[in-house]
Amino acid sequence: MSKNEIPYKIYLSESELPKSWYNLRADMKNKPAPLLHPGTHQPLKLEELTPIFCEELAKQELDDTTPYIEIPEEIRNFYKMYRPSPLVRAYCLEKQLGTPAKIYYKFEGNNTSGSHKLNSAIAQAYFAKKQGLKGVTTETGAGQWGTALSMACAYFGLDCQVYMVKVSYEQKPFRREVMRTYGAKVTPSPSDTTEVGRKILKEFPGTTGSLGCAISEAVEAATTQEGYRYVLGSVLSQVLLHQSVIGLETMTALDKYGVKPDMIIGCAGGGSNLGGLISPFMGRKLRGEADYQIIAVEPASCPSFTRGVYAYDFCDTGHVCPLAKMYTLGSEFIPSANHAGGLRYHGMSSVLSQLYDDKLIEARAVEQTSVFQAAEQFARIEGILPAPESSHAIRVAIDEALKCKETGEEKTIVFGLTGTGYFDLVAYQKYNDGQMGDYIPTDADLKRGFDAIPRFPGNME
Ligand SMILES: *Cc1c(COP(=O)(O)O)cnc(C)c1O
Repeated sequence: MSKNEIPYKIYLSESELPKSWYNLRADMKNKPAPLLHPGTHQPLKLEELTPIFCEELAKQELDDTTPYIEIPEEIRNFYKMYRPSPLVRAYCLEKQLGTPAKIYYKFEGNNTSGSHKLNSAIAQAYFAKKQGLKGVTTETGAGQWGTALSMACAYFGLDCQVYMVKVSYEQKPFRREVMRTYGAKVTPSPSDTTEVGRKILKEFPGTTGSLGCAISEAVEAATTQEGYRYVLGSVLSQVLLHQSVIGLETMTALDKYGVKPDMIIGCAGGGSNLGGLISPFMGRKLRGEADYQIIAVEPASCPSFTRGVYAYDFCDTGHVCPLAKMYTLGSEFIPSANHAGGLRYHGMSSVLSQLYDDKLIEARAVEQTSVFQAAEQFARIEGILPAPESSHAIRVAIDEALKCKETGEEKTIVFGLTGTGYFDLVAYQKYNDGQMGDYIPTDADLKRGFDAIPRFPGNME
């Protein structure tokens, strides 16, 4: 087939759905740093992880050497209901920009949860069910992960308990109701149902909650109920593993048409969609088979990569979780209240953090009004109403395409369009009303976050 005949949408057939996930860690020379026990500062062993995580998922978390891990048939069958997801050539956007660049986006918003998070939710629910558990607990911020997990648990008949950041619980009732429709029990966090929740409420009365706090409550709920484990929608290496379906499909589709991307762009919150999208490409890069420029895009109001430090840090506010080495703003960092665009976690995946430290990926921070400008432009020309998170990637893809217009370079740009924005209309309303501002934390704001990072020999000393 001629390379000029690339369709608007490259669909793969069901038989081209990946049969295995790709574990990028196997090809990394510098492995991501291991999770540490918060008390002893020693690397965690499998038997220390299994009281919190499902056994199979704990094994995946610790597996730095197996490159391909088979996707069980039950998970593939669920994937078939909404995957392979389309890879779209943004012909209309290219034309509007007048750029010689070729732009593609991998669209993960084609399922009820509205984002890529279902790819890992269904895997985690499957392994919990297979272990014979009664249910799982988790946290959710804006609600995409909780929605995806409640769908996955409904499918496998598992109980699903979601601790939802209180401010979102109150301001985003629609997501809450989607979760409840799928059978999840949703509790606003911090709550008085856990010891750590009661402690936080006592210390900070009137707090509207944070992800780090909801994580602490969900972990406590898992470890204090028989037959329950905790699951997490991002950051962990197992989540990047499951999300590698995004990158594997993208690579199959591009290879089919002989297209080699020059640049791969994704938004980065905890790093799961970007990690999944780039995994097989980074594998090629690490094995010396190809080279790509890879850009992580984060909000200027929560700049873990571009202004964070690379250190072991707490993953949660209550400090009940293992320590992870990552680019972090400190577990007590909370982005300014006017930040609307998601991607508000204080840390970043250990896998991506190591790649960033090794200068194998780059990072950019963008301001939210410019993100919503890109979202609006994209919605009007490509038809999809993008999630604010995804729009961070759109912003940089457009900026790079405009640079190509100046230089005349015909670069091929691929970006991850992680989801749709139907539940983010309060943020869109702010933007449409001209009431959206940009807040960039000062060095003093960041220092307060850094001060809360644990100090021990070899860490922050
Ligand atoms: C959760 C989410 C993200 C960010 O999470 P990552 O783990 O960094 O991928 C991005 N986009 C959407 C639509 C999300 O729901």
